[in-house]
Amino acid sequence: MKKWNMIIDVAECTNCNLCTLATMDEYVGNEWPRYSAPMPKHGHKWINILQKERGQLPMIDIAYVPTMCNHCDNAPCMKAAPKGAIKKRWDGIVIIDPVKAKGQKQIVDACPYGHIWWNEELQLPQAWTFDAHLIDQGWQQTRGQQSCPTGAMRAIKVEDEEMARLAQEQNLEVMKPELGTKPRVYYRNLYRYAKCFIGGSVAEEKNGAIDCLEGASVQLIKDGVCVAVTTTDNYGDFKFDKLDENSGRYSVQIFASGRSKTLEANLGASINLGEIKL
Ligand code: SF4
Ligand code: SF4
Repeated sequence: MKKWNMIIDVAECTNCNLCTLATMDEYVGNEWPRYSAPMPKHGHKWINILQKERGQLPMIDIAYVPTMCNHCDNAPCMKAAPKGAIKKRWDGIVIIDPVKAKGQKQIVDACPYGHIWWNEELQLPQAWTFDAHLIDQGWQQTRGQQSCPTGAMRAIKVEDEEMARLAQEQNLEVMKPELGTKPRVYYRNLYRYAKCFIGGSVAEEKNGAIDCLEGASVQLIKDGVCVAVTTTDNYGDFKFDKLDENSGRYSVQIFASGRSKTLEANLGASINLGEIKL
């Protein structure tokens, strides 16, 4: 049976917020009976763009991550919602019933992702519905996807086995997999938000001038073991990415033209070691 999933490419999101605005346009002041009560004008972000800045100038990057209800297959919110207030549809979509969920504020805290919003006026927990009212009219994409100028988000309806194959082939990840919630929202290039890097720029003195050193070999050592190797580019830059935050001490060893240099780094967040003269 084919079910809905969302694939989001973190590298393609520019933080334009058009998906957030399109979703507000769809839901603010609009009631979709059996799907959702109106979203309040202020205070809710059913599609919420997270932001992460990594490194230090000049080696710096910024990632934007659109987040929304993950339509989990093992949804903790459902366990906290008596009287059938939240249901999982056959096509994978999770719906908070706008009538049965009334007054059930405990549902908000049950989402480990913070994707349920409390509507104070209506006394109702609310979350992004995957635009199920449009999907049920035959839409093949969501309002957010339709509005996205970069193609960063894409809804696809495939069998679970096919989705698992795509996830493996394309290195797609979900948020907080350790929770076992089985999200249906997948991310490409999530490392730009969730991981960190050690980088630097290697230079050498040549004919009285400081010049970028291209082609130097750089090794990353952890607990005495070489865990990655790279070479500097034509700007003398190197970068070891996809490292775990707060993963402790590393050594960076640089070799070129019979010379070498070793630097130590204690990795909390991303580090730019700056200019390194060999
Ligand atoms: S992301 Fe939160 S609200 Fe959405 S299905 Fe999962 S637990 Fe429920
Ligand atoms: S519309 Fe696309 S590019 Fe803009 S914030 Fe949303 S996902 Fe990112």
